[in-house]
This record gives sequence, C-alpha cells and structure tokens, in this order.
Amino acid sequence: MRTFEKSKKLDSVKYEIRGPVAVKANEMEEAGIKILKLNIGNPAPFGFRAPQRIVDVMKEHLEENEGYSHSKGIPDARQAIYEYAQKKGMPNVHQDEIFTGNGASELITMSLNALLNPGDEVLVPAPDYPLWTGSVTLAGGTPVHYLCDEQSDWMPDIDDIKKKINANTKAIVVINPNNPTGAIYPDEVLQQIADLAREHELILFSDEIYDRIVMDGYEHRSLCTFAPDVFTLTFGGLSKSHMMCGFRIGWMILCGDRSKVKDYIAGLTLLASMRLCSNVPAQSVVRACLEDKSELEEMLLPGGRIYEQREACISALEKIPGLSVVRPHAAFYCFPKLDVEKFNIHDDTQFAIDLLEQNHVLITSGTGFNWPTPDHFRIVMLPDVDTITSAMEGLAEFLSGYRQA
Ligand code: PLP
Repeated sequence: MRTFEKSKKLDSVKYEIRGPVAVKANEMEEAGIKILKLNIGNPAPFGFRAPQRIVDVMKEHLEENEGYSHSKGIPDARQAIYEYAQKKGMPNVHQDEIFTGNGASELITMSLNALLNPGDEVLVPAPDYPLWTGSVTLAGGTPVHYLCDEQSDWMPDIDDIKKKINANTKAIVVINPNNPTGAIYPDEVLQQIADLAREHELILFSDEIYDRIVMDGYEHRSLCTFAPDVFTLTFGGLSKSHMMCGFRIGWMILCGDRSKVKDYIAGLTLLASMRLCSNVPAQSVVRACLEDKSELEEMLLPGGRIYEQREACISALEKIPGLSVVRPHAAFYCFPKLDVEKFNIHDDTQFAIDLLEQNHVLITSGTGFNWPTPDHFRIVMLPDVDTITSAMEGLAEFLSGYRQA
C-alpha cells in the first residue's frame, strides 16, 4: 500500500505551542473536562474584544473589499503604516516597500523563504517565538540560537551573538518586546546588535509585534532607528495591540540601505504576488487602529487589566518554593524557571503533561521555545486576576509534591 509522509523539509520543524500537549488538552476538552489554556497568546477567549469602533469600520467597508487587493496591500493601509513608522522615527522607509500580510506570521515565513539557501545561518534568540526557528528551517536555512541571559533580565547575550557569527551567517533575528520572556530591550542593547549587523554585513529581522504592550514606564524603540544604514525588516501588526488575532493583519516594513538587497526585495515581491494579497477587510481597519490611541493603553497602567493580571501572576509565582521568575515589562507572557534538583526535571514536555492531567491547566514547555535545557515554561497571563491567581495557587500545590521519576 502506498503511504504518504510529511515532506523531509518538515523533519526539524516544530511548533509546540499547538503541539502534542495542546492536542491532548483538546481531547480532554472533548471528553468534557474544562481546561485553562495558558498556551496561546490569543486574547479573545479571555474576554478581550477588538474595539467596537474598529469592528464598525470593517463592517462599513466590507462590501468594497471583496476583491483581491494589490499584493502588498491597499494604499490606505500602507500609507497608515508608513505614517506610524514615521511617528516611531523609523528612518528611510518607502511606502511602496511596506507589505501587509495575513498576520506577521505569513511575512516572517515569506521573508525567510525569499532569502535563505541551504547552509545559510540565521541567528535566532533562545528562547524564541518558535515560528522563527521553524521558518528558518523550512526555508532551508540553519537556525543558530544565541542566548538571552536570565541573570540580566533576559537581555540578548552580545558576546554569544559575536561568537556565533561566521561566514555563513546572513541575518540576526531580534524579538523585542520578547515572547516568551516579556523583556524589552534598552537602547544600548539595540545599538550593539545594530553595530554587529553593520560590521558583519548582516540583515536584521526585528519582530516588534508587541511594541504597544509595554508597562512600567518603558518605551519601545524600533531596532532600525539604531541602524539607519543596515537593511532591516520590521514586523508588526494588530493581532495583539488591538486584540484582533483572528482578523489576520500584520505588516513588514523595509528600511536601511537597499543597494545590496535589490534581488532579495524582488524575491519578497514575487512571494507576496504569489499569495495574491492579505485579507482585505482586515486591511481596511489599519488606519483606524493606528491613528487613534489604543484602547489597550489604560489596561497597561496600574488598575488596568493587563497590568493587574501580571501583578497577580508574578506575585503568586514568586511565592512558590523552587520556582523563580524575571518580572516581564512587556507583552503578556512570563517564562519561569524550575529548580532542576528539587523537581528532578529532565523532561519539560512531561512536566506540561503532568500539570495538564492533574490541574487541567495547559502551559507550553521551555524547550518549545528552543530553550536548551528542560527547566522553564511559559505562562500566558491573559486570564482575569481571580482565574490567574487560582491557577498559580494550583501550580504551587502541584509543585509541592512534584518530582520527576
Ligand atoms: N511574533 C511574535 C513574537 C508573536 O508572539 C506572534 C504571535 O503570537 C507573532 C509574531 C505572530 O503574530 P500574527 O498574529 O501577526 O501572525
């Protein structure tokens, strides 16, 4: 009998956030068990809604938006993204080099597919948002992970980046604010990465999808502002800032010196054309989203929902013996560390399964974010204060008796 296997290209491609543990959680749900899903940064199931004014704009324009658009996006959306880039001080941006996508995800995959050949290396952070590692691999390249240092609030380890640059390195990926750590990088760190890219003639990929989800007085600065000459692709979108993950709208902004990347840009344009265009109704709300103050801003201040959920989650985690956590200042994730000796942890997927089975709480293990040792996990801090507090109390109880065989 003839059988069909997945392509060899997928051999090393993983996406644990929706991987086997999440599949098990879905099966438990189907069997009638209520699961608290802290695995995906999807605000809608936790009662966050896209602003009504934005939904109204989409409805109003729906009937004009049934056709394909220009493959890079409708002029009004690209102009609005261009103006947003200006507000952020992004240098050297041209409106005709802004691409809209079905989420930033599609553009991340596309930008790597257009660039990489077998043997090409891309420096990706560890931990990372695993789409990056998966997409480098799928594109035929080799992800080389540079460490972010937990002891320094999860900042990229610049020396580690330096050590890992070689003649095959083509690009550095920076995720700032970071998923899964919730770190936001200061100017000095961004400057050092930009300088390394310049010195070694590397492209920069800057994932800034959480640029508006920043707390505690921190301010987000775009990586490209530190490297006006270095060719940089900046990824953004409305999934998180406007709680509309399902509408699928993101963008990619090119800036820096184009003189050596003309053919690469032609490749990007070709891939954008082949997928025709991104979701047009979602493009129609870009201006409305970017022009106005985000509804999210108040949620990030003391008393606001995202701020208070983070406070509740972190203060509950800090009380758990054998667990430590770096306080995140951005996005809505944290990446706690488990004491390896105390819990005898050697398999963090098993840890996730055990927690799921015992507490009916779904988290994603640290190795799912390409963290090299099985001693971390990610929590999505989107549930309301009572729910997240009781989930963390449950975690404390679970850990009080936990030790891997
Ligand atoms: N980049 C990071 C760091 C993310 O966390 C996510 C989604 O969680 C994405 C990109 C993808 O976002 P989008 O919904 O725009 O595809």
